[in-house]
Amino acid sequence: MSNRIPATLIAGDGIGPEIVEATLAALDALGAPFDWEPQVAGLAGVTSSGDPLPKATLDSIRRTRLALKGPLETPSGGGYRSSNVRLREEFKLFANLRPALTIVPGGRFDKIDLVVVRENLEGLYIGHEHYVQIDDDPHAVAMATGINTRAGCRRILEFAFEHAIATGRKKVTIVHKANIMKALTGIFKETAEQMYEQKYKGRFAMDTVIVDACAMKLVLNPWQFDMLVTTNLFGDILSDLVAGLVGGLGMAPGANIGADAAIFEAVHGSAPDIAGQGKANPIALMLAAAMMLDHVKRKDLADRLRRAIDATLNIDMVRTGDLGGKASTSEFTRALVSRIRNG
Ligand code: NAD
Repeated sequence: MSNRIPATLIAGDGIGPEIVEATLAALDALGAPFDWEPQVAGLAGVTSSGDPLPKATLDSIRRTRLALKGPLETPSGGGYRSSNVRLREEFKLFANLRPALTIVPGGRFDKIDLVVVRENLEGLYIGHEHYVQIDDDPHAVAMATGINTRAGCRRILEFAFEHAIATGRKKVTIVHKANIMKALTGIFKETAEQMYEQKYKGRFAMDTVIVDACAMKLVLNPWQFDMLVTTNLFGDILSDLVAGLVGGLGMAPGANIGADAAIFEAVHGSAPDIAGQGKANPIALMLAAAMMLDHVKRKDLADRLRRAIDATLNIDMVRTGDLGGKASTSEFTRALVSRIRNG
């Protein structure tokens, strides 16, 4: 009996443990095949071993190559780098996949179904930043370097194009700012156009859009988009915008996929303002767990989980406060588990 799948589990900080517990209850009810290795990171890592990304956690992910992770807080002060950025670098998690699908109808934007694919390792987020002192002002000048490589562009574009084909997406939109950052984001646009011509033409439509225009178009008419593919900074911003189109951060899952591992998480952070109050919406992490089930080729279970979430929200009308309801995290979870068991 070795169809069990070892996976690392990081509860995370703030609301992390609450939403992870809820997600595990849903996965247990589904009979998901994961054998969890619980590990710590973020503030919990600092408390337990003085490191927001302890060696034992890294070793576990190196073994399992698969993780479900609650949000991590980067301790301010102490010179710690973001654990999320370190995880992406350590496991070369170059692709950030953020689907946005309307589950609760009747919001400002209905029937949204689009995917943002964000390059996760390059661009302006590589952390090469400097100040230059002038006279007595040590921060008189601030500088940041962005790096995009041909190989990095090819890797993310190939991932996105293949994902578009595998999931039946009709149109891929390349988001850039090549009119101003001609080299840094021009290379992304140019590589996309070359790859499309050489290998992908006819399999889906492709167009390009400048990031500022894209932001406006997303708010005016998001239905014109199907899949957005973009560089690190633009992807970070646009994926939060897109999460807002489907009811906010409580509904937005994400996957970080790379050569050496895949890590699944909610797009949102640790929500310290509501931590410990039992009112967090666990759906974003549950949808991330559904993506993890897709990833290990258990689409049957992933679809059951997504259907049960839909039914709990829209038939049973059990919703947490961020969705206008009154349910606590555990009330929502109980309703969901009974949907999974009886559905
Ligand atoms: P946040 O996403 O934690 O919270 C933003 C707002 O959304 C808050 O009002 C919060 O209450 C609400 N919210 C978020 N998730 C919710 C949920 N599931 N249910 C109901 N409401 C929810 O963003 P922030 O406050 O800017 O960040 C807090 C901490 O999280 C910071 O330390 C940040 O670095 C970290 N962070 C971590 C990740 C990650 O681990 N992937 C991502 C983003 C932020």
